[in-house]
Amino acid sequence: MALSSYDFISVPSELSCEVVIIGSGVGGSALARQLLEKGIDTLILEEGPYIPADNVPSSYSEQIQAMWRNGGLTAAMGAPMIPYAEARCVGGGSEINSAIIQRCPDALLDEWANTYQIERFSADGLKPYYEQSEELVHAQYPSEYGADSLVLKRAGEALNWKAIPLKMARNASTKFSMTRTLLPQSLMKGLRLIPYCKVEKLLVKNNEVKGIKAVVTSADGQKKPVSIKAKYYFCCSGAINTPALLLKSGVSKNVGQSLKMHPTIKVLAKFPEEINAAPSPVPGYAITEFMPDIRIGGAVFNPSFFGMYLAADFENRASLLNEMNSCGIYYAMIRPEGMGSVKMFPGIKEPVVKFNLNKTDRSNLVKGLNYLKQAMFAAGAELVIPSIKGHKGWLDNSVNLDSLPQDKTELMTIHLFSSCPMGENQKLCATDSYGKVHGFDNLFISDASLIPGASGVNPQGSIMAITLRNAEHFLNTATF
Ligand SMILES: Cc1cc2nc3c(=O)[nH]c(=O)nc-3n(C[C@H](O)[C@H](O)[C@H](O)COP(=O)(O)OP(=O)(O)OC[C@H]3O[C@@H](n4cnc5c(N)ncnc54)[C@H](O)[C@@H]3O)c2cc1C
Repeated sequence: MALSSYDFISVPSELSCEVVIIGSGVGGSALARQLLEKGIDTLILEEGPYIPADNVPSSYSEQIQAMWRNGGLTAAMGAPMIPYAEARCVGGGSEINSAIIQRCPDALLDEWANTYQIERFSADGLKPYYEQSEELVHAQYPSEYGADSLVLKRAGEALNWKAIPLKMARNASTKFSMTRTLLPQSLMKGLRLIPYCKVEKLLVKNNEVKGIKAVVTSADGQKKPVSIKAKYYFCCSGAINTPALLLKSGVSKNVGQSLKMHPTIKVLAKFPEEINAAPSPVPGYAITEFMPDIRIGGAVFNPSFFGMYLAADFENRASLLNEMNSCGIYYAMIRPEGMGSVKMFPGIKEPVVKFNLNKTDRSNLVKGLNYLKQAMFAAGAELVIPSIKGHKGWLDNSVNLDSLPQDKTELMTIHLFSSCPMGENQKLCATDSYGKVHGFDNLFISDASLIPGASGVNPQGSIMAITLRNAEHFLNTATF
């Protein structure tokens, strides 16, 4: 099967379709699947390359260069800065993520329904869409757990803390990303897809989208403008680039003002025995004792990430250089009260992202780090080095931190959402209860931007479930 519907040469300068989807990530691919099931003429425009799951470069640094936005160098300004990672490739985050599939806690879904006034939105109501999403990506519990996963289980047992196994969109040999599952099925049914196609602007007049200005780039860097006209326009460009595109296009009500994320602090833990974290996927356990505000888990670990962790403070970490097989990286992630923003400024092409931690968030990060340290020693670690520059590491659990040095602490996040929340509350929400931008009849959002708040869990399952729910409503109300 062709990898895409067009190459650089064959893309015409004008295209039309019934539905155009901007971004082929988790939200865009799940939406396309629902539309193609009903035979709707659908076109996806994707800024990044199409690298099918079987052709992903084996070197991690090449993967990051090819498939991560800005080669992984993106950060939210604040004190401290919070680097964040996003995909820029066909399939979006599902191609580079760890494939952990979780559901939002019921109480949180009900709280969002009230605060944001989301119609017909509840834990019970979302359940069938969560189930369907999990089936679509073959979410399952791992059949066996590596020593790096068992670190978390052991810690939970030793401390009498709740530690749960995590469902993943993978089996022992295969990860079920969008290029492995939904996209090939939709292409077979007639989906059109243009990779390397960046949407620059929506052409908006009198609260109606009249068309799209996009640019397609060839392998050797040539550029070609393309205009697209559709009956319905869906922004699925992720929690940073959806608001960025809307703002560039003059759509600004409640757009980009309420960004949420999961600020995360890490440790490198060295065990007396080999735990061989590098060849195995991300650990399949999480410590959930302190949820919803703090969750402890295991991070992706490979020679590149190990090397980067050491290089960030080589003076204090060099002793571990030959100890990769007995090390793992683990994290504490918080559900913050603080908020961020996505803004566009004249003359600057890229969005400016900010995030402000408040006092409670700082306190939860300290608590999370202390719990994480305690968990690592309870599981048998002999050295634990936090992601704080200049810290020599702990040899036991006797001393807790009471604050984080702002200029030396390295936080990060891979979970971004809430930049265009959905609901009928006109003070807070960019779209209605089903993702239609307030004031528009032909403009929709379907990605992480819609999730009203930080969930405290991995977001892919919720993005898919909300997409399936909203797509059903769209198909029942749109006219073709
Ligand atoms: C390293 C990493 C690990 C993660 N692990 C997990 C995990 O284990 N479980 C989990 O649930 N979540 C995980 N996540 C988060 C999850 O992948 C994201 O929340 C999810 O992919 C977001 O879906 P989305 O549809 O909002 O956007 P994305 O999946 O990011 O897709 C957006 C797409 O839009 C494209 N795009 C952007 N702007 C334009 C434009 N102007 N024109 C055309 N195309 C555009 C982008 O290139 C991208 O491909 C992880 C994320 C990362 C980065």
